[in-house]
Amino acid sequence: MTKKQGKHHDAANGQKDSAKASQDAARGAGLVGGHPPSSAEWARGAEALAETAPALIGGYAPTVPRPAPGIVMVEPGKTVSLAAIDASTDGGFDKDAAKELLRAERTRIKALQERLYAEHKRSLLIVFQAIDTGGKDGTIRNVFEGVNPQGCRVWSFKVPSAEELDQDFLWRYHLRTPGRGMIGVFNRSHYEDVLVVRVKDLVPEPVWRERYGLINGFERLLTASGTTVLKFFLHISKDEQKKRLEARIAETEKHWKFDPADLVERKSWDAYQGAFQDALSRCSTPYAPWLVVPANRKWYRNIVVARTIADTLQAMDPQFPEARAGISGLRVDD
Ligand code: ADP
Repeated sequence: MTKKQGKHHDAANGQKDSAKASQDAARGAGLVGGHPPSSAEWARGAEALAETAPALIGGYAPTVPRPAPGIVMVEPGKTVSLAAIDASTDGGFDKDAAKELLRAERTRIKALQERLYAEHKRSLLIVFQAIDTGGKDGTIRNVFEGVNPQGCRVWSFKVPSAEELDQDFLWRYHLRTPGRGMIGVFNRSHYEDVLVVRVKDLVPEPVWRERYGLINGFERLLTASGTTVLKFFLHISKDEQKKRLEARIAETEKHWKFDPADLVERKSWDAYQGAFQDALSRCSTPYAPWLVVPANRKWYRNIVVARTIADTLQAMDPQFPEARAGISGLRVDD
């Protein structure tokens, strides 16, 4: 039995005092409640979270993401400046080796995903957000190639239907969070409700302002239920978006990807950057921090996203269940 499982065992045996003390520690570290903790609480918060986790998620400490080189993890409680993050960096990776590196990370993801599926205790939710042409589709296509489709589901969120609009804003996302053993990928997500909704004034300001805290609570609930939440913001520059839109216009095989509405949306570039900055700053928490991926170079973006997923899965350390006793000696009848 591991140290963590041992602690859980103690709590489960009714040692309320220690469970209460660790919950108080979590509250002190800003881990309980709807607002992100201050930056000073970040390290202490992650530690306290690991301490309280056994009582909260049935024996498993939540896994803090392991960002690959060049990715910026938004520090909880701090305001991130997207303008200050170079979208063109390559993190020192060698482009000539890109295909090989990506293949190696995919192999790791495949093997770890099989373990996660077999273990059937926890899950991984991977969120992708980006401005139009930011590369969500391409990243998902490249990173998840070869992953067993039985253990991985991708959901793309579009304009909500009338039925969805009749529910609370998180309803349609919660319906699709990954169950035990599964990897869930959100192509756009609950963050749209503080992004496009805010930029286009689709609900009154007090309504979208309330949502940051509600989103933190939602992600806290998922984490406390055994889901590791990995959130990637694919960060491209305005010039890069121009190039990508021009390519979609110039190349007939890319016409299907082009929506004239993208040209209108581009006029709101600054408003979108402001909304992204606020969402990343207000909703980066010790249990679900935001990761900003410099995404002008697609080959680099694919490698670091894949490596972060592989490293995070490895840190989760999923285990094959124990085999039933006596299998080795069994014989199959002719
Ligand atoms: P994508 O750009 O993701 O490939 P689409 O071109 O179909 O797919 O765009 C989906 C659209 O749905 C986007 O314009 C996005 O802003 C919009 N959308 C997603 N979620 C919401 C939401 N909660 N409220 C309003 N619009 C949304």
